[in-house]
Amino acid sequence: MADNVLDLKVNLENKVAIVTGASRGLGKEFATYLGLCGARVALVDISKESLDKTVEELKQKGIDAKGFVADVSNNEQVEKTVADCCAQFGTVHILVNNAGIIRDSFLLRMKEEDWDRVISINLKGTFLFSKAVSKVMLKNRWGRIVSIASVSGLIGNPGQANYSASKAGIMGFTRTIAQELGSRNITVNAIAPGFIVTDMTASLPEEVKKAMEEQTALKRFGEVKDVANALLFLVSDAASFITGQTITVDGGLTT
Ligand code: NAP
Repeated sequence: MADNVLDLKVNLENKVAIVTGASRGLGKEFATYLGLCGARVALVDISKESLDKTVEELKQKGIDAKGFVADVSNNEQVEKTVADCCAQFGTVHILVNNAGIIRDSFLLRMKEEDWDRVISINLKGTFLFSKAVSKVMLKNRWGRIVSIASVSGLIGNPGQANYSASKAGIMGFTRTIAQELGSRNITVNAIAPGFIVTDMTASLPEEVKKAMEEQTALKRFGEVKDVANALLFLVSDAASFITGQTITVDGGLTT
């Protein structure tokens, strides 16, 4: 985020947010946006070096940020992270399940380990973090959980059987736990981005990028701020009657 200017003004003072996969890409932007709205932010990532660098950058912007190294697919590390976050910030109000990976190949060539790793980080990680924070949110009788799915989970994408299964799983998981947690004022939603300019999409072959732009109604990739704005809306009071939903932010790719 170059200029620190927010498109949406959302007051998150006195709120504590956890963002997973927050060292770079969308997660870094989510942490920045939440912090600029006043939230204290716990950034979670598997790589300490890049995490420390990002936490410093956020602090330079005046954000109360702390880094927590954890693998979202490891239950012990997830539970410890939520406990450490509560010890340092007092509680947790907002969770953004953002950490995700791709290990693309066509079905017949897809290795079992690539299936397992993608499901484990993208889907199981979402389950583990949601479960761990919901214990705190139930006591608070307030919470916001937003998980980052993908249009790949809605319409599929050749070469992404593992990834699209994980993202479709997030949407079903979201609908179910929204029903389980709703009576305690906890909303649970997902965002399904289309193609957004980040390191993840930078690795796509040029011809795939061109084809994706062509299929997108707005004829371009989205920017990270397009998704961050949807997140700010979902965690704001303006969205307090919205739960169990997946909001698509894809420039019209799936229309
Ligand atoms: P990215 O640039 O690859 O960043 C992902 C972050 O997650 C990295 O910091 C990565 O750490 C971290 N991470 C990976 N495995 C982890 C683990 N086991 N535990 C904790 N952190 C881990 O990805 P992105 O493009 O910002 O995407 C973020 C989310 O949006 C993902 O869930 C992705 O599926 C979803 N999404 C992205 C797009 C898009 O166009 N970019 C579209 C639809 C959905 P390392 O630096 O160590 O790898």
